Amino acid sequence: MESMATKFRQPLIVGNWKMHRTPSEARVLLNNLKEKLLEVIGTAVVVCPPYTVLSVAADILEKTSIQVGAQNMCWEREGAFTGEISPHMLRDLYVTHVILGHSERRVHFHETLEQIRRKVLAALAGGLIPVLCVGETAEERESNQQNVAIDGQLLSALEGIDGETIGDVVIAYEPVWAIGTGKTATPTIAQEMHDHIRRFIRRRFGEEAAQTIHILYGGSMKAANAGELLSQPDIDGGLIGGASLDAAEFAAIVACAVRP
Ligand code: PEP
Repeated sequence: MESMATKFRQPLIVGNWKMHRTPSEARVLLNNLKEKLLEVIGTAVVVCPPYTVLSVAADILEKTSIQVGAQNMCWEREGAFTGEISPHMLRDLYVTHVILGHSERRVHFHETLEQIRRKVLAALAGGLIPVLCVGETAEERESNQQNVAIDGQLLSALEGIDGETIGDVVIAYEPVWAIGTGKTATPTIAQEMHDHIRRFIRRRFGEEAAQTIHILYGGSMKAANAGELLSQPDIDGGLIGGASLDAAEFAAIVACAVRP
């Protein structure tokens, strides 16, 4: 059932550039994006380039409504953590959002549930909006364990968060089998899981939190399938990987999110 409040969640489109683009290459993409998204009203847009591009992005996107996000961070503010970047350092670069718990970090860098939980809390304490990624593997879906898998990831990552702060968290449902594979979840499969996640939030944090929290879909979203996915009642936006590296494609996805 779609409640009235659903209509008031402003769509949010987040681009995850992953490990692509040097600062000089990024200038071209960012200027193209700036030009194409100049007129966008009613949809929030965030681009998450590599760390080395964050200050270039903040400069180019200054005075636009496009916000800048990071793809990861450490839970500590500063100290002997070679190679890490803190929430405080990101904020100083005008970063507003941070992707946490992406499946590529869980798989390739063995990020644990405990580390992700600490990062979510640190992001909130540091004034950043965590874009918390959760998703089941192909094996979990084949054995009908997708809801159990998602609940486990949410329970752990949201431990210690209360009804006041949950509104500052964005959740991205990213089925692992759909990321970078060209296999998109059907709108029905995605909607079912988004509804499941919203029910989880409702049980744990109450009705207001369930109605205000943004739940994004991620996994091979592109202009050709964005319209149908984004029109589902519980899909509030998208986390876009590959397609965010093409300004025209990304702008076309943003256009699909704009509600009349
Ligand atoms: C992602 O990396 O978060 C993602 C959704 O990637 P892609 O769109 O390329 O599947």
